[in-house]
Amino acid sequence: MYTLKRIENACRKCNRNPDEVKLLLATKTVPAEKIKVAFRAGQTLMGENKVQELKEKFEELKDIPHLKHFIGHLQTNKIKDILKYGVTCIQSLDRLDAAKKLQQRLEFEQKNIEIFIQVNTSYEDSKFGVEPENAVAFTKQIAAFDRLKIKGLMTIGLFSAETEKVRKCFKLLKEIQQKIIAENIPNVEMTELSMGMSSDLEVAIEEGATIVRVGTAIFGQRIYPDSYYWNETNERI
Ligand SMILES: *Cc1c(COP(=O)(O)O)cnc(C)c1O
Repeated sequence: MYTLKRIENACRKCNRNPDEVKLLLATKTVPAEKIKVAFRAGQTLMGENKVQELKEKFEELKDIPHLKHFIGHLQTNKIKDILKYGVTCIQSLDRLDAAKKLQQRLEFEQKNIEIFIQVNTSYEDSKFGVEPENAVAFTKQIAAFDRLKIKGLMTIGLFSAETEKVRKCFKLLKEIQQKIIAENIPNVEMTELSMGMSSDLEVAIEEGATIVRVGTAIFGQRIYPDSYYWNETNERI
């Protein structure tokens, strides 16, 4: 897979071990058969943006060992289903009310879940995530929920052809991670930095990504624009 080569090359360039960087298949709009091909080729981690797609692909994928993360906007009324379809990590937590609902449901089911805090490092209105200035305080609030196991941070970098502007977003996420680590908050691990996509994974790896989330570079162009997934005003999919 060409993407693996890109990851390896980027790691080599900045003296990192490629084992430190996990590839998450961003599988929105990708049919289960195609995801299966990637799993058979050795991949083990996928991320979905919509509960509907988790549901549709669940049966067909359930017999192949893999992990499922949720990377889309977290709606409180969908929490039950996210758990039902086997998500082990929610990378997009950015609201206290969602954390409360999640904690309640997890208590009921006697389960825990892994959490990344999503940070809006590009300050774009169209993107979800807590503001960088609030990330430390927000993490402290979330740490109070004992069923949410905080493992790291997630961001979507600025969409720009100017690499240095994109890099700023990833640098900022790393800085926030270091700040949170320095606070020594109980129930908070900060080992993971989920950043970098098809167009910017090299820069993200240079700035410390431990998970890159890749869709287009592996599965090809999607027919829906990404705003469809990132902007919940459109609920058709
Ligand atoms: C779609 C998506 C990706 C992957 O984007 P590509 O540009 O197709 O690689 C990564 N992260 C999130 C949150 C996404 O929604």
